[in-house]
Amino acid sequence: MKIKSWLIISAIIVSGIAGCKTNAGGKGGGKQDADNEAIRVPTPVFSADSAYAFTEKQVNFGPRVPGSQAQIECATWLTSKLRSFGADIIVQEATVKVFDGRSVPMKNIIARYQPEKSNRILLMAHWDSRPFADQDPDPAKHDLPIAGANDGASGAAVLLEIARGLQSMPTPLGIDIILFDVEDYGTPSGRDTDSKPEFWCLGSQYWAKNPHIQGYFARYGILLDMVGAPNAEFTMEEVSRNYAQSVLDKVWKAGNKLGYGKFFTYRKTSPLIDDHLFINQIIGIPSIDIIQNDVTTESSFGSFWHTQADNMSNISRETLSAAGKTVISVIYNEK
Ligand SMILES: [Zn+2]
Repeated sequence: MKIKSWLIISAIIVSGIAGCKTNAGGKGGGKQDADNEAIRVPTPVFSADSAYAFTEKQVNFGPRVPGSQAQIECATWLTSKLRSFGADIIVQEATVKVFDGRSVPMKNIIARYQPEKSNRILLMAHWDSRPFADQDPDPAKHDLPIAGANDGASGAAVLLEIARGLQSMPTPLGIDIILFDVEDYGTPSGRDTDSKPEFWCLGSQYWAKNPHIQGYFARYGILLDMVGAPNAEFTMEEVSRNYAQSVLDKVWKAGNKLGYGKFFTYRKTSPLIDDHLFINQIIGIPSIDIIQNDVTTESSFGSFWHTQADNMSNISRETLSAAGKTVISVIYNEK
């Protein structure tokens, strides 16, 4: 992820998005207990320690850069872990062309629960690491890959921990977890080559054009990206609002009811190029992004973003729990 530019995004969105760019949304926050139907049903335990350990495990493979040994080893581990949690696994392998014309191997990892059910929810994260720390304050580090503790590993870790619960307690609807590869291989800033939105999110674009089941559809999709930083603020991002406002409302309401209002705020923020954009555009599954917005940085991402500082020191058990428990509440309350 991803450039924050309405102009760039609008160039590939041909229709369907209003140009509302207000940042004047009211601050959410606070607990709401007027009615609590959203947290009534029993749900599996979400262990923050487990999610933290899953994040660390991925980071310890080294940067999961497409084409690296770490990519192969981490894919094997993710797959076996999900299989041990009772999922039906499909690994979608292909080569995709990155910004400079080279081809790299891609491994999308798809974990299906109750595949016989036709009503489904899609949970997504990317698991690759960016090959360039092009936002690092030290220019000498710009060509080094990032550890991607938050940008990549955190979302995949939360979904692994959710998968652990899915094994013990089935949901009313079928669940598909997809860990997308080659999300973060977009043009490094400062390169002469043109930067295009389509250079990002190559794994999700591939899957959206070649879903694992012909005619695949889900009721909605939830993407988790950078869900591990201490005191992260998850805001109402514009692509999510335009394509899936009701999903956003449902998820944010659940988060606030669980007492996570400091994480799930109602501040409206600008559109992002992230996997959910292509899932909305190409395959038409209404999808939102749970992603940190940092009001104090120019990029709007955390100061660790695309730097060598995106390591385990940036990972908070509390934030992982807020994201994970909120998603669990939503998927177990569906009918
Ligand atoms: Zn990124």
